[in-house]
Amino acid sequence: MSRIEEIISEFQDVVSNPGKQMKAYKDQGKKLIGIVPYYAPEELVYALDMVPVGLWGSNDKTVTLAKEYFLTFYCSMVQLDMEMGLDGTLDILDGMITPTCCDTLRPASQNFRVALDEKLHKFPVIFLAHPQNRVPEYGIKYCMDQYNNVREALEKIAGKPLDKEALKNAVRVYNKSRQARRAFNELAKDHLDICTPTVRCAVLKAAYYLKKDEYTAKLEELNAELAKTPKCDWKGTKVIVSGIICDNPDLLKVFEDYNIAIVADDVAQWTRSFRTDAPETDDPMRDLAVQFSHQDYDTILFDEKSNENRRGEHVAKLALDNGAQGAVVFITQFCDPEEMEYPYLKKALDQANVPHVKLGLDMQMRDFGQVRTSLQAFADVLEMRK
Ligand code: SF4
Repeated sequence: MSRIEEIISEFQDVVSNPGKQMKAYKDQGKKLIGIVPYYAPEELVYALDMVPVGLWGSNDKTVTLAKEYFLTFYCSMVQLDMEMGLDGTLDILDGMITPTCCDTLRPASQNFRVALDEKLHKFPVIFLAHPQNRVPEYGIKYCMDQYNNVREALEKIAGKPLDKEALKNAVRVYNKSRQARRAFNELAKDHLDICTPTVRCAVLKAAYYLKKDEYTAKLEELNAELAKTPKCDWKGTKVIVSGIICDNPDLLKVFEDYNIAIVADDVAQWTRSFRTDAPETDDPMRDLAVQFSHQDYDTILFDEKSNENRRGEHVAKLALDNGAQGAVVFITQFCDPEEMEYPYLKKALDQANVPHVKLGLDMQMRDFGQVRTSLQAFADVLEMRK
C-alpha cells in the first residue's frame, strides 16, 4: 500500500466510525463538544483543550425518536442529529453548540435544549445566534457578544477560563487547516484518479472528527505525496457539485460508476466551510467575528446585494474556472434556503452555459436508483457536448 493509500485509508476509517475516534479522545481525558452546522467558532473549543465534533446527521439511521420533538418538515440532517442525541449515540459528548443560521435551526436549537439539556440532562446545549447583518461594525460587535456567551458556557464545561494566547494559537491552527484543505482541493483536481468523489468526501469530512492540528498534519502529508505524483489526464466527465451535504458513500459511488469526477464544490459540509480565513491580530475574539463577516456566497447567509445574483454567478464561475462540463445541484429535502436560491442558481448556470442537473436528497435515502438514472443520463449529455 502506498503512503497516499495509507493516509486516505486512515481518513476513511475515521469517517466510517466517528464513534471510535470520539472514544479515543475521551480515553485521553478530552472533553467533546458537538457542533451543529454552521459557522460555530470551533476555535473556542480547541483553545479550551476540548475537541469539537461535527454533527452532520447520519447516513445509517432513520428518524423515529426525534419525531417527538420535531415537525416533519425539518430537514433530515437536523432530525438525525436529534435522533443521535436521543438514542444515546451522542452520550459521549460534554456539550453541544447550536447555531441558528436558518429557519429550521432557529426552532431546532430550542428543541435540542429542551430535550437533551433540560429534560434528559445529557449535556449543556449552548445557543448561538449569528448576526444577520454580519458586515457592518455593529454586526461584528454583536457577533463578538454572542461568541463571548458561547465562551462563558464552554469555560464552565472545561472548568477553566479561556486563555487569550491559546485562542490566538487556535486561530492560527484553524487557518492552517483551512489552507491545507484548499491546497488539497487544488491538488485533487490534478489527481482525479486518486481523489475520487468518495475519497474527496472522506478527506474533507475527517476534519470534523479529528483535532485540527492532527488532521492538518495528516492532510499536509497527503498533499505533499500528491504533489510528487504525476498528474492524471482524466478522460471521464468533470462536474462541480453544489448543496448542503452529499456524503453518502453509496451516492458518491454512483459518480464513480459513471466516471464522473468532482473537480470543485460549493457544498456546505465541504468547501463552503473553509473558504475564509480569520485575521491574526492581538484580539482573537474579534478576529473570529471578522472572519464570519467575510463569509460569503452561501445560501444561509444574508446577502445585501441579493438582487445582483452574486452567489449564482459565483457557482457558475466555479464550474468554468475548474474546467467542469456541468454542475450537479443537490437540494436537501425541506431545506428552504437552498430551495429558494435554486431559481437564481439555475439562471446563473444557464446564462454561463453550464448544464446542470438538480437532484433531491434526504439523509434517510438508501436507494439511489433515481439518482443513478439521472446522473447516467446527465453524463451522457455532457459527453455529447465535448
Ligand atoms: S440550511 Fe437547510 S439543510 Fe441546513 S439546517 Fe437549515 S434547513 Fe437543514
